[in-house]
Amino acid sequence: MELFGWHERLLLRWLPGFCPLCRGRAMVGLPWCERCFRALPRNDHACWLCAVPMAEHAAAVGQRECERCQVAPGLLHQCWVPLVLQHEVEWLVRRYKSSGNLHAGRLLLELALSVLSAASPSERLESLWQCEAIVAVPPDVIRQRQRGFDHVQWLAKRLAKALGKPLLAAKRRYSVGSQRGLRREERWRNISDLFAISGPLPARVLLFDDVMTTGATLEVLARACFEAGAEWVGGLALARTPAAKHA
Ligand SMILES: [Zn+2]
Ligand SMILES: [Zn+2]
Repeated sequence: MELFGWHERLLLRWLPGFCPLCRGRAMVGLPWCERCFRALPRNDHACWLCAVPMAEHAAAVGQRECERCQVAPGLLHQCWVPLVLQHEVEWLVRRYKSSGNLHAGRLLLELALSVLSAASPSERLESLWQCEAIVAVPPDVIRQRQRGFDHVQWLAKRLAKALGKPLLAAKRRYSVGSQRGLRREERWRNISDLFAISGPLPARVLLFDDVMTTGATLEVLARACFEAGAEWVGGLALARTPAAKHA
């Protein structure tokens, strides 16, 4: 996985700059400092199937799935969400999505992939590298118009390049208003056939979103991918909302 082009690697090596999070001296070869990288809010000890944070002792005894996935697993075969939407991560997401700051978006992607590579056991990452194509969550037209750009697609293009995989396009069939305040079943009913994608898809597909809240969006997109011929579907998001907001 190559996050930086040759000219950038050369620049980072010979001209280490300043960490954009604290303005301190950045590490040689990287655009951030060690202290900020270590302090990032991480989604360690997450469920392998739905990426919900689990208690540390569950991971310590080798438990891979959360209690809900043990009883009724969702459609995703695996899910990776390396960061938690708090502190510097939340600040970067806001700067990227609300202010259109592309430098913040790129930094967010690079930090998330670096945490993912550093913190995951190799057997957990194996199936991520084996995916054959990436499908980004398609935008809500109304929100995209307000924002002025497709923020998930912008990140997905860079992710696809870093992983060396093709990026395939899915379509959103209709616009969904705010789902806030709705019960889980009502939210599901509103989006159950939200996405469409033309097949046949390759066997192993990786779905991508910037931020994951309940995981419902990725589940619905996974269903569309299975209908279009995929046999294995994983999910990757950069950050997950803190546990208290999942309900
Ligand atoms: Zn720093
Ligand atoms: Zn789970």
